Amino acid sequence: MTDIKSMTQEEMAALLTELGEPKFRAKQVFSWLHKGVRSFDEMGNLPKALRAKLGDTCQLTPPTVERKQVSTQDGTIKYLWRLADGNCIETVLMRYEHGNTVCISCQVGCRMGCVFCASTLAGKVRDLTPGEMLDQVLFTQVDSGAPISNIVLMGIGEPLDNFDTVMRFLELVNHPDGLNIGMRHISLSTCGLVEKIDKLAEYRLQLTLSVSLHAPDNETRSRLMPVNRSYSVEEVFAACKRYFEKTGRRISYEYSMIDGVNDSDEQADLLAQRLKTAPGHVNLIGLNEVEESPLKPSRRIRQFQKRLESHGVTVTVRRKLGGDIDASCGQLRRKAMRED
Ligand code: SAH
Repeated sequence: MTDIKSMTQEEMAALLTELGEPKFRAKQVFSWLHKGVRSFDEMGNLPKALRAKLGDTCQLTPPTVERKQVSTQDGTIKYLWRLADGNCIETVLMRYEHGNTVCISCQVGCRMGCVFCASTLAGKVRDLTPGEMLDQVLFTQVDSGAPISNIVLMGIGEPLDNFDTVMRFLELVNHPDGLNIGMRHISLSTCGLVEKIDKLAEYRLQLTLSVSLHAPDNETRSRLMPVNRSYSVEEVFAACKRYFEKTGRRISYEYSMIDGVNDSDEQADLLAQRLKTAPGHVNLIGLNEVEESPLKPSRRIRQFQKRLESHGVTVTVRRKLGGDIDASCGQLRRKAMRED
């Protein structure tokens, strides 16, 4: 069965030609799919015979809501979706003044092994397909009724470890006959896969690249993020510099503040020094405690921020949303896995 949801409109046109249908149907099918229909029968303006043909050759595998948690504090919604093969992934809807944002997953689990992250505890099960990534946006929109204007690839998984799928996904959500979400409304977060950062730079997309840094020195970063043993802090910053030079887009550096591990003044000074080579701003994140990990949130976020600012660094502190609903980083999937 063909995974039509992952197809571009051009590929759909080729498929329809094979099925003996006129090419112009591709645009109709594409827009229906990108509205979040659950079956071909919902495609009202298509001839019945065509809908039947599509049903015979193609498979739609919309996810089902396994759990849904709505924050009473700020309206954040966390979805645990069950995929067609039984695996579960998470999506979070956040409501900001600048628009509704979905945080989506790109893999079932993750193989990067960051010690503070719940998503990686049981490793990676598999990559998602472009259609499964798209479905998270579509069905969050359908279920919540909130029109989505921004997407962040900061859910479960490492986007650059599923590179081709993510590139296809970006092309799909960007399409004028679909969600039509501009690249400037999309952020992609990576743990720092250097070759893939270079590869992404080649596309010169206007999206925001976020790099999970979490420490400015190799000793600390290698302790927190095994990926640092393959790509050192110096190599990551060099790649960020090349990325900036090629795309003109400043990097957003994510830095989750961990008590007594990465929150010293010396580390702020070193971070500021490193940032001189690769322009960008720092986004400080309060650590979300993960049951399986002994790491605690830092109490020095403000001091760290001030210290960075004293060096002229632009710093934002991420506002915590959905604190009452396990809204961060693979925690709901873990919980469900433990309970199953
Ligand atoms: N694989 C991508 C996207 C993952 S999650 C990446 O590494 O960037 C998005 C961000 O949340 C990353 O910066 C990640 O390091 C951070 N994060 C993961 N678990 C966290 C936790 N328990 N507390 C705070 N931030 C966390």
